[in-house]
Amino acid sequence: MPYAEVAVNTPAPHRDSFTYAVPQGLTVVPGQAVYVPFGSRTLQGVVLEVTEVPRYPEAREIAGLIDARPVLLPHQPALARWLADFYLSPLYPAVALMLPPGFGQRPRTLVSPTDAAASPPGPLTPAQARVLQYLAGRERADLDALGRALRLPNAAAVVDQLARRGLVVREPVLGRPRAQPKLVQHVTLALDREAARARADALRSARRHTAAEALRLLLEEGPSLPAADVRRRTGATADALRRLAAEGAVRLEAVRVERDPLAHLAYTPRPGPELTAAQAEALEEVARAVGTAAVGGPAALVLHGVTGSGKTEVYLRALEHVADRGKRGIVLVPEIALTPQTVRRFLERFPGRVAVLHSGLSLGEAYDQWERIRDGAFTVVIGSRGALFAPQPDLGLVVLDEEHEWTYKQTDHQPRYHAREVAERLAALTGAALVLGSATPDVVTMHRARSGRYRLLSLPLRVRPAPGGGGAAAVEGGAMPRVEVVDLAQELREGNRSIFSRRLAAEVERALRRGRQAILFLNRRGSASFLLCRDCGHVPRCSGCEVALTYHGAEGVLRCHQCNRRRRVPAACPACGGRRIRYLGIGTQKVEEEAAKAFPGARLLRWDRDSTRVRGAHERILERFLAHEADILIGTQMVAKGLDMPSVAVVGVVCADIALHLPDFRSGERAFQLLTQVAGRAGRGAEEGTVIIQTYAPEHYAVQAAARHDYEAFYQAEIALRRQVGYPPYGRLARLVYADVNPGRAAAEAKRLARVLRTERDVQGLDGPDVVGPAPAFVARVRGRYRWQILLKGGDPRALLAAVDLPQGWVVDVDPVSLL
Ligand code: ADP
Ligand code: ZN
Repeated sequence: MPYAEVAVNTPAPHRDSFTYAVPQGLTVVPGQAVYVPFGSRTLQGVVLEVTEVPRYPEAREIAGLIDARPVLLPHQPALARWLADFYLSPLYPAVALMLPPGFGQRPRTLVSPTDAAASPPGPLTPAQARVLQYLAGRERADLDALGRALRLPNAAAVVDQLARRGLVVREPVLGRPRAQPKLVQHVTLALDREAARARADALRSARRHTAAEALRLLLEEGPSLPAADVRRRTGATADALRRLAAEGAVRLEAVRVERDPLAHLAYTPRPGPELTAAQAEALEEVARAVGTAAVGGPAALVLHGVTGSGKTEVYLRALEHVADRGKRGIVLVPEIALTPQTVRRFLERFPGRVAVLHSGLSLGEAYDQWERIRDGAFTVVIGSRGALFAPQPDLGLVVLDEEHEWTYKQTDHQPRYHAREVAERLAALTGAALVLGSATPDVVTMHRARSGRYRLLSLPLRVRPAPGGGGAAAVEGGAMPRVEVVDLAQELREGNRSIFSRRLAAEVERALRRGRQAILFLNRRGSASFLLCRDCGHVPRCSGCEVALTYHGAEGVLRCHQCNRRRRVPAACPACGGRRIRYLGIGTQKVEEEAAKAFPGARLLRWDRDSTRVRGAHERILERFLAHEADILIGTQMVAKGLDMPSVAVVGVVCADIALHLPDFRSGERAFQLLTQVAGRAGRGAEEGTVIIQTYAPEHYAVQAAARHDYEAFYQAEIALRRQVGYPPYGRLARLVYADVNPGRAAAEAKRLARVLRTERDVQGLDGPDVVGPAPAFVARVRGRYRWQILLKGGDPRALLAAVDLPQGWVVDVDPVSLL
C-alpha cells in the first residue's frame, strides 16, 4: 500500500509534511491537491512525495482528490521543501506560493443523487424530501447554492443524513469562489444585412432613432458588439435593446471573455537588432549555460552592464534561443519596472506569447493567466518575485533583471524568501540557465561571481546607434551623464543657507529658461534621525556594528539599533570639534516649499507615497510630467522611473546623506545603487544631462564611486568593510523581531530570548552565531506594537534556532535585506 507525504493547510504552522495512506483504488501522484482528515476536520493539502514505506506508522487515509491534474510541476515539491528548510518557514505557505490564484479559499462540495434517490426506501423528513426534489433532474449541485435556494441553513447536515442512507454522494472540489469566468453581455444582429437595413429605416420612420442607430452600428461594426458599447455610442437604453430583441432584430447573449491583462496593449511585432560584439559574447555564454546548472556548471551568470548597455536585448535573444529548443523562460523585474513599456518590448519579440503576473492583477486575471501558463501557452512569463513560482513548463531560462533590488525579498510574511536564492535552486532543479542582470550587482552576488560560484559577464559600455544610422550595426560607447558632487558644508561656510546649492540652483534655472525640466530627488521620504556635523560631515557610528547611531532627542542619547549601545549626545563634533552638530531632517514636502521660494513661477509636481496612495496615481503623475504640465518633479526613489526623459536637463540629489547614514550595514550599498541609478539614467536623450549630488560627505566612497560610474571602486571599499565587521558575504545574518502592544513586555521577552540563545549556543558548544542585541528596532513602533530585535550574525542560524522554542510573536527573517 503506498503512502503520501502531504503538506497540509493547517491553521497552526507546521514545518513538516504529514503521512497519509493512499486508499485502495485511488492513484496518487506528487503535486496533486487532496483532502485529508486532520483531527476531527477535513483539510486541504498537497502531495509532495509518494513512498512505499510510511514515515509515520499510524497513517490515516487520504479522503479524496481535489483535482486529478497535479497543481504542482514535478520539481516544485522539492523547491517547497527547500524554502521551508532554508528560511525556517512553515511548509504549507511555501507550497501555497505555487498554487493557482484563489486556491484554498473555500473548499466546495458537490452533491449528486444516486440511482436509489428516485425511489427512496423508507420515509423522509420534509427537509430531506426537499433536497432530493431539488436534486432530481440535476446531475449535481453545489452544496452552498442548494442551501441558499432552499433556504435551508442546515443543508450540510441534511445532505449528510442522505449520504449515509446512500441516496446522495458528496464530492469535494477545488474551490474557485472568487475566480469565476467572466461573462459580458453582447448584442448580435439576428437579421441578414438587407433585412436589417430595411428594419433600421422602418424604426427611423417610427421615430425610434436610438434603436435605428443601434442597428446601423451593428451593420457597420458588428455583427456582435458588447451591449455597453452599443448603449454608450448610440444612446439606446437597455430597454430599447430588449425591445429589439423581443422583435427578433437582435439577440442578447452572454459571452465568456478571457481576462487578458495585456489585451489593451498595442504593439507591432518586430525583430531584434544585430547584436554588438559584447552582447553576442554574453549570449553565447548564456546559451551554453542552459542545462548545465544541474551538472556542475555555474549556478548563475551575472550580467553586469550599465543601464543602456543592452542587457534586455541579451535576455530577449536568450529567450529566442531557448524557445527554438522548445523551452520557456521566466523574467523577473522589480514591480516598479513592470510597466507597459517593458512588457511591450517583450511582446514585440514574442507576439501573443507573453504572460504577466504581478500584484496588480485581479484574481480572475491571475487565475486565467495561471491556467494558460500551465498549458504552455507562453514563451515567457514576466512578473515580480512571485512569478518565479508560475507553473511554466519546460523551463530553460530564468532572468532576474536589476537583481540588486530589495523588492526581490519577501519581507512581510512567510516564507521570507529572496528571489535570487530561490532562482538558483530552481535552476539547479530544472537545468534552466539563470541570468542575474544589473548595473550595480549586489556585493554578495559579485563576491559569488569572483569566487567561482557564479560566472561574470560584462557589457561595459552603452549601446549607441550606428554612426550614419540606417541598417548598420550599433556600436558601444554612448555618453554617460556628467555628475558633479557639491559639498554642503562648504556651501554653509560660504553663507548659503538654502537647501539648494548655488550650482544646483543655477542649473535648474538654466533648464527652466531653456524650456526643459528638472528633477529633485530625495533618497527617502520623511526625516532622517542621525546627528551630522555641518562643518565636516561627520556622523557618529557604533564602534561595534559600524552603523550610524540613531538620535533620540527626548532622552538626549544616541543609540545603536543593533547592539543597543548608548552614548550621550555630544556638544561638539568628535571629529573636528565643530559646534554645529545637529540632526538632519528633510522631507519631500520641505523640498517642495523651498523650491516654490527658490524658483518662483515654476510649476511643481510632488511624487511620493503620500501623493500616490491611489492606484494608478504613479502613471498619472509621470504622464503629466512627460506632457510637460510641470517643470520640476520632486520625489523619492520612485522618480527614478522618470529620469529617462530627454526633456530633463538636470537631476539634483538634494541630500545624499539621508541614504548614507541609515542604521543598516547595507546603507552604503543602498546609497551607491540609488545614486548610480540616478547618475546613469539622466540625459539618455540626445542632449546630455547634468546630475548634481549634494552631500555633507563628498568624499564618501559610495558618493565618489557613483559620481564616477565606478562600480569596481565601490565594490572594493564595501567588501573590505564587510570583511572587517563580518557582515554578508562573510557571515550570515538572521533577524528576530518581537512585537507587543506593551513596551515593557516587548523588552523583557527580547532580553529573555537573547539570554536563552546565548546559553544554548554555549551549552551546545556551537561555534556561532553571535547573538547581537536585543535592541529596540529602528522603526520602534508599528501599528501600536513595540518592536525589539535580536541579530544572529555569522554561522548557520538554523541549528541554534531549532534548539529553542520561539514563542508566538517572534518573526524570523533569514538573510534579511534590511535591518530597519
Ligand atoms: P539595458 O537593459 O542594459 O538597459 P537595453 O537592452 O534596453 O539595455 O538597450 C538600450 C537601448 O539600446 C535600447 O533602446 C535598445 O533597443 C538598444 N539596443 C540594445 N542592443 C542594441 C543593438 N545590438 N543594436 C541596436 N540597438 C540596441
Ligand atoms: Zn552597535
